[in-house]
Amino acid sequence: MPVFAQPGADGSVMTYQDRYDHFIGGEWVAPVKGEYFENVTPITGQVFCEVGRGTSEDIEAALDAAWAAAPGWNATSAAERSLVLLRIADRMEENLQALALAESWDNGKPIRECLAADIPLAIDHFRYFAGCIRAQEGGISQIDEDTVAYHFHEPLGVVGQIIPWNFPVLMAVWKLAPALAAGNCVVLKPAEQTPASILFLMSVIGDLLPPGVVNVVNGFGTEAGKPLASNPRIRKVAFTGETTTGRLIMQYASENLIPVTLELGGKSPNIFFEDVMDADDDFRQAALEGFAMFGLNQGEVCTCPSRALVQRSVFDEFSELAIERTNKITQGNPLDTDTMLGAQASNDQLEKILSYIDIGKQEGADVLTGGGRAELEGDLAGGFYVQPTVFRGHNKMRLFQEEIFGPVLSLSSFTDFDDAMMIANDTLYGLGAGVWSRNGTTAYRAGRTIQAGRVWTNTYHQYPAHAAFGGYKQSGIGRENHRMMLDHYQQTKCLLVSYSGKPQ
Ligand code: NAD
Repeated sequence: MPVFAQPGADGSVMTYQDRYDHFIGGEWVAPVKGEYFENVTPITGQVFCEVGRGTSEDIEAALDAAWAAAPGWNATSAAERSLVLLRIADRMEENLQALALAESWDNGKPIRECLAADIPLAIDHFRYFAGCIRAQEGGISQIDEDTVAYHFHEPLGVVGQIIPWNFPVLMAVWKLAPALAAGNCVVLKPAEQTPASILFLMSVIGDLLPPGVVNVVNGFGTEAGKPLASNPRIRKVAFTGETTTGRLIMQYASENLIPVTLELGGKSPNIFFEDVMDADDDFRQAALEGFAMFGLNQGEVCTCPSRALVQRSVFDEFSELAIERTNKITQGNPLDTDTMLGAQASNDQLEKILSYIDIGKQEGADVLTGGGRAELEGDLAGGFYVQPTVFRGHNKMRLFQEEIFGPVLSLSSFTDFDDAMMIANDTLYGLGAGVWSRNGTTAYRAGRTIQAGRVWTNTYHQYPAHAAFGGYKQSGIGRENHRMMLDHYQQTKCLLVSYSGKPQ
């Protein structure tokens, strides 16, 4: 029974089932304990489906299926795996509208972002890794006249992947595409807040994969995530989520001595040097758009440019334009293609953001715009909406130091280059940063000085598949995207062969 049917921009319709099981061994499998939990759409706050509540028994069943599939999948040629990934990409493209609707409904993000970014980026990710694996070459070292060392890339076997709720489909695909390209089988656990769009994705692409190659077990962190991450039957764990959870994942992995990649939190600086105000209109407008990107995905982005630093000599002038631009962010029904700011992903997240807005006020930061819950009408009244909010304060405030994960920006000024770098690096995190300047030397030096894995220069929030992404400091370990990601899902076999035929 479809419980949700919403016409997309082209009139197409997607439907969610009212109940989802786990996806194990290519089939829909009921949870061993028979329990389900409710899944809510943040758009209206209403329950729209229920989802299997996984436990260690379900994780074991998924690992059985993955290990059964591993010998076959591990042994496929790169060309065969590449073809499967290309077919997945094509199938997703054919279902772009439905996948975009599913994502928007489950997560609350604007459909325009799902249509233009989340789903197209996920599709391109499969295509990119389909190409990478075809192009990958091994290496040969000649040790002496008669001795050769051959280097082979081999898959790890079965890997565990745990993802958050902010970009459910894209985060799943960031992990699935390189793991599958490299020849691994996967057990993936979606976030409990947003399992449905990934399950919908599996209903779209599941038949393209041999049974057991990808298995999805739903459930909560300690009930399903921990039995997966701490399981001796996985050869690697990849995790995206909070820094505090990342520490636990690393502890579990240390028991089994397996590699870990962690994509964690951030508090990214976005730095506007004074020459932005002297630049041509297009460049200044681009910088203002870059400022307003703290609202992208409702600020629920690990690289949210949540600390804007503006050079003091142009602070008043620039801030006035930036607030004007912020006030043009249209907020409303995420399924409306004009909406730029949708709903926060869960009621818990809504409350967390509102509590930070209170903290900012108590700390004495000035509210320049927004500053509370957005009250929408009709069906949306029960949804989880926050006004885009800009505070002015200083970098010692909690507002500037702690990840809020909402459309809340903390604005401050700096005197000169060194001051900007000192403030930018004064954080536990090091995931993203933005630098805006027409002066090539300033922009280059800033990019090299900021301790972050990704520094956007005169742009922000671009995530192409072939640009490495990951954190410095407490923002994580390892990288995602880029062909270097294959290294995280492969091991090297060195075959050292003597052709001399003589005793050594
Ligand atoms: P979270 O750490 O609470 O949950 C993430 C996932 O981990 C969920 O699937 C959850 O069920 C699972 N989990 C929780 N406890 C667990 C445990 N003990 N063992 C195993 N699994 C467990 O994070 P969240 O609130 O869902 O996500 C938001 C966070 O993700 C933010 O901090 C954000 O910055 C970060 N994030 C980082 C990136 C990146 O690429 N660096 C991308 C997106 C989000």
